[in-house]
Amino acid sequence: MKKQKLVVVGNGMAGIRAVEELLKLAPDLYDIAVFGAEPHPNYNRILLSPVLAGEMTIQDIILNPLGWYSDNGVRLHVGKTVTKIDRTARKVIAADGTEEDYDRLLLATGSTPFMLPVPGNDLPGVISYRDIKDTDEMIATAATHKHAAVIGGGLLGLEAANGLKLRGMDVTVVHLMPWLMERQLDRAAADMLKTSLEARGLKFLLEKQTEALIRGESGRVAALRFKDGLEIPADLVVMAAGIRPNTALAESARIYCNRGIVVNDTMQTYDPRIYAVGECVAHRGIAYGLVAPLFEQAKVCANHLANFGIARYTGSVTSTKLKVRRHGRRRLVFPVGQGRPEHSPDSRSPDVRPEPRRRRRPCRCVESGHHVR
Ligand SMILES: Cc1cc2nc3c(=O)[nH]c(=O)nc-3n(C[C@H](O)[C@H](O)[C@H](O)COP(=O)(O)OP(=O)(O)OC[C@H]3O[C@@H](n4cnc5c(N)ncnc54)[C@H](O)[C@@H]3O)c2cc1C
Repeated sequence: MKKQKLVVVGNGMAGIRAVEELLKLAPDLYDIAVFGAEPHPNYNRILLSPVLAGEMTIQDIILNPLGWYSDNGVRLHVGKTVTKIDRTARKVIAADGTEEDYDRLLLATGSTPFMLPVPGNDLPGVISYRDIKDTDEMIATAATHKHAAVIGGGLLGLEAANGLKLRGMDVTVVHLMPWLMERQLDRAAADMLKTSLEARGLKFLLEKQTEALIRGESGRVAALRFKDGLEIPADLVVMAAGIRPNTALAESARIYCNRGIVVNDTMQTYDPRIYAVGECVAHRGIAYGLVAPLFEQAKVCANHLANFGIARYTGSVTSTKLKVRRHGRRRLVFPVGQGRPEHSPDSRSPDVRPEPRRRRRPCRCVESGHHVR
């Protein structure tokens, strides 16, 4: 029997998990092609923080080495960005002209980090924290420069700050709100966390609004100026202020999006031949920013791609941990509650998802043994 063609756009955690689940259910049903904009095979994005902290290497966090794709008959177009979906001809086209026809298409394009719209946000030395390239740049900068500022006192910002500190930088975390991780922690818990991180040498500036990033003589960023006039030195500025579902490709193909690619409980978009999973998706109005729900979506999607048609995704309850450790010392494990994340825009932009909101639950700071209530 002639195989159907499945094309996956996005070689990240959700897209490849869907392919793995599908191969378990129906290994011979599809001829599969995957496009990935990054020049790497699928890796565990969650573990970028241990890489930044010097606890792991990039090699350690590869989930599916190149051999996995060939062993499973998956054609990988690595380092190729799909720029067009032709829904009439049922094909996708990459920036370099590579084309693949599809019978079914899976979009798993992830998220785009939000860059604060302030003057200087395009200077060399101003980066987001999303992928291997960002992590490599932080590691290289830490070897040659002294001062780092991390904008955003959420999970991602604190993990970036911790890694840069461990690499010898003088790090200041800048946060707009009165306490850290305000979406997950109450003030008492956040104060304990801050005290613990200060003891590791991190500095914090709370309730500070960044006005501009200042260019130095070398042409790269040299300082950060706040609305109140205060300036701090910064050879590296890491923006960890939120993410947006990456819907650009879907929107260009006129697939219905509303703060994410809108899918039903079978992970199908408004075009029945096109599915979507991962951070790019809005399911029942919710866009998730943690990996566990995305894996649940991937499983349901694979079930339908395999023509079983029985699984339904009805939403997820999420929880996560702050991954912060000192070299050779105890890990500070900071569970940050559980709950159903809502699509909750922050005040600066209606589309930015600062971090998944979770219902507050008592948190326990494992390192100190204190219970925070
Ligand atoms: C530093 C860091 C730490 C994290 N820690 C945690 C944690 O502790 N716990 C947790 O649950 N989650 C964590 N997360 C979030 C988790 O990594 C994400 O939820 C997950 O990776 C999202 O998977 P995804 O497949 O939807 O998107 P991604 O993993 O971003 O994959 C999308 C891929 O699609 C590619 N792409 C996009 N557009 C195109 C196109 N047009 N053509 C080709 N390719 C394209 C992108 O380049 C990308 O490689 C963390 C994230 C980061 C950055």
